[in-house]
Amino acid sequence: MEITQHLLYNLSLLLIFIFTCIFWSLKRKEPALISKRAALVCGIAAIWTCIAFAYELTDTTRFDLREVPVIIGGLYMGIGPTLSLAIILIRGLFGIDTGFFLNLLIYGSLALLLWRVYPLFWRKSSKQRIIISVSVTVLTSIATIATMEIGKMDLDRVDAYFAFLVIPALGMLITTSTIEFVRSDLQMRQQIFKSEKLAAVEQMGAAISHEIRNPLTVSKGFVQLLEKETITPDKQKEYLELIREGLDSAEQVIQDYLTFSKPTIDSLEELNVQHELSQIITILVPTANQHSVLITAQFSPSTFVLGDRQKFRQCMLNVMKNGIESMSHGGKLSIIVNKDNNKVTIEIKDTGVGMTKEQINRLGEPYYSTKGAKGTGLGMMVAFSVVRAMNGTVQITSEIKKGTIFSFQFPVNSPYS
Ligand code: ADP
Ligand code: MG
Repeated sequence: MEITQHLLYNLSLLLIFIFTCIFWSLKRKEPALISKRAALVCGIAAIWTCIAFAYELTDTTRFDLREVPVIIGGLYMGIGPTLSLAIILIRGLFGIDTGFFLNLLIYGSLALLLWRVYPLFWRKSSKQRIIISVSVTVLTSIATIATMEIGKMDLDRVDAYFAFLVIPALGMLITTSTIEFVRSDLQMRQQIFKSEKLAAVEQMGAAISHEIRNPLTVSKGFVQLLEKETITPDKQKEYLELIREGLDSAEQVIQDYLTFSKPTIDSLEELNVQHELSQIITILVPTANQHSVLITAQFSPSTFVLGDRQKFRQCMLNVMKNGIESMSHGGKLSIIVNKDNNKVTIEIKDTGVGMTKEQINRLGEPYYSTKGAKGTGLGMMVAFSVVRAMNGTVQITSEIKKGTIFSFQFPVNSPYS
């Protein structure tokens, strides 16, 4: 079994070579595993290794796996003809003899075959590519055996047949399977990355429109109120002021979302919780009236937290709005602010439809909404990200048909603490 032994030795060298190339090319993180030039260098080096460590039957006959790098290079990179030429030249260095001319014949035909097959090769599926590679290898092996038979070489037939028919095909199977696996893995990773990026862009677009709709709807409500003729000049002034605030906040939302991808808060301010929440309540009164919802508030005076004003408002607005929307047949929205030790607790409680445990778990998932076309499923996602950025926490307790409590805790911001 001398030939088999030699070819197996050849195969292990080749596999070390090919795997090194694959892992080295993986580091490049580029769409193509390897450049044509690098493939050519690797291919020629692999061919040289094969020929150098060949089984020498006689001075003029050498058996090895040189066809494997040629076929892989030819099918995967389109460099079959060049590699075939390299084989013929390298073989020439070992002597111009019968073996050389046999090589010329076999690798000349192989070059032609690879040149024809390469353009079709990439149109095939991954499995088909492996089958084609192995088939071309077996074909080359048959050609080698044929030359062996024609030359009436003196060797162990079983050994030679096994060595030529099984080992190159096996080597090719291992190599092409690895290449295909690495390629599909790389492609998948690129696809995931791309779709993640796309989803982020889409999310941002939807979030912008969602968050702008709130202040615009509110402003629209006040415009409708202004249209009534009975309105006093004082009220008129107040409403106009609220409209201006609504528009300002819409403008601010755009600005904020342009930098929304950043999880940290950019402009930290000391926020008076009572002041901020009162403003939001004022903005929400028209919506609450539409739903026959009564809003009550209970504040612990002079409570301050540290955060970005616009984002904090956005967060509280989203949660209160959800509370109001959960009470389609009217109800009560209570806001209770407490301060103890170093924590500010903001409780937002509704008497609405409530949520199951599964629903609570899904809160904050982008696009999770039970409101059909009316919902975007982004409000809670935004709210949670604001809470996180403010080093706060949120606890949700809910009971179906009874209502929901959102309990926020933020670190207190006191100049004296
Ligand atoms: P949207 O309001 O656009 O549906 P949100 O992210 O604000 O998106 O809310 C997601 C879902 O969470 C809502 O569709 C609703 O089913 C549920 N939800 C949120 N807050 C409440 C609440 N207070 N009571 C009942 N369900 C709620
Ligand atoms: Mg919402």
